[in-house]
Amino acid sequence: MTPSPAPPPALPPEAAQAHALIDLDAVRESVATLVRRAGPAATMAVVKADGYGHGMVPCARAALEAGASWLGVTVIEEALALRAAGIDAPVLAWLIAPGAPLAAAIAAGVDLAAGSPATLAALAAASGETGRPARVHLTLDTGLGREGASRSDWPALCEAAAKLAADGRLEVVGIWSHFAFADAPGHPTVQAQISRFSEGCELAAGYGLRPVLRHLANSAATLLEPRAHFDLVRPGIAVYGLSPGPALGTPAELGLRPAMSLRGRLTLVKRVPPGSGVSYAHRYTTDRETTLGLVPLGYADGIPRAATNTAEVLVAGARRRIAGTVCMDQFVVDLGDDHASLGDEVVLFGPGDRGEPTAQDWADALGTINYEIVARIGPRIPRVYLGETAAP
Ligand SMILES: *Cc1c(COP(=O)(O)O)cnc(C)c1O
Repeated sequence: MTPSPAPPPALPPEAAQAHALIDLDAVRESVATLVRRAGPAATMAVVKADGYGHGMVPCARAALEAGASWLGVTVIEEALALRAAGIDAPVLAWLIAPGAPLAAAIAAGVDLAAGSPATLAALAAASGETGRPARVHLTLDTGLGREGASRSDWPALCEAAAKLAADGRLEVVGIWSHFAFADAPGHPTVQAQISRFSEGCELAAGYGLRPVLRHLANSAATLLEPRAHFDLVRPGIAVYGLSPGPALGTPAELGLRPAMSLRGRLTLVKRVPPGSGVSYAHRYTTDRETTLGLVPLGYADGIPRAATNTAEVLVAGARRRIAGTVCMDQFVVDLGDDHASLGDEVVLFGPGDRGEPTAQDWADALGTINYEIVARIGPRIPRVYLGETAAP
């Protein structure tokens, strides 16, 4: 018999309103799994996009406590926010837009990616401003077809980088790439990308570039593709305890524990007659006398409007489908004849161990991925942390 799950923890007063409960011990447990799987390779916890909606700084601290030694973000502003919070671990930002605050990043000791000679030139210029060489990770497109130099542009990028490095204007510390199909086990592009990556590193060595950090693996490859580990792995979604793909296994099978529970409370409970239209455009009509409950979360909070009549929530002891149109700030559930009261807890998704849907259930219902379900939760929803340690 499995032990019954612990009761929901006592929450601070701000949790009275709808909130995302973030279990930092779950983050630590999942990161510990990733660090173990990475073996001798170091682990960069990817905390972009406000930690996939979980809160960047608390999750970054928890990941570092659990053995991650690097943090990965998309834009420089995210890296500077980590520094402003007092986090001095190595950080890489990989999306360098024209006009980005490069000098501030270099001064703050943030590593930066470059996949074109134009970005290298901008980094070299910013290095000149700060009097400190930029630490650069060269980006090779091994087949994703997104950022980085294509195979044909790679020699020119290496040559330009080697020249700027020789002039002391930057330091090439890494070479990296990103997978297209890591969530599809055995997909032929995975091995092809690993081979192209190794070839790209050898070619760079021919230009005198021997960076100590070669990195390629996202969550899926960290967990399941040791040949892709190289010197450093870059897991994101798994840091937050979610499976990088339903085909790869459940969080429990992968040694992960989902960190986010999205919860609210019924703000109204009312009895209505049969044939009552519910919410905008009456996309739901009651087929009997029933009780409706109002939930104070809507599409402005990141609840997809496509969840109308589709996704399920746990309330008053059972899972119930959303009844009618998801509005900007609220939606309705049909509670039938079950007992429910004002203030009763509604769990939209969580780890699933109390019968609530998971982020993966929402993704399956909506034809998307769990990443999108958690990352889109909006800023109006307070993040309430469990297991937070004091800031240093
Ligand atoms: C988002 C991202 C990751 C993390 O990917 P997951 O699938 O969430 O593990 C790693 N590297 C890069 C470049 C990314 O953009």
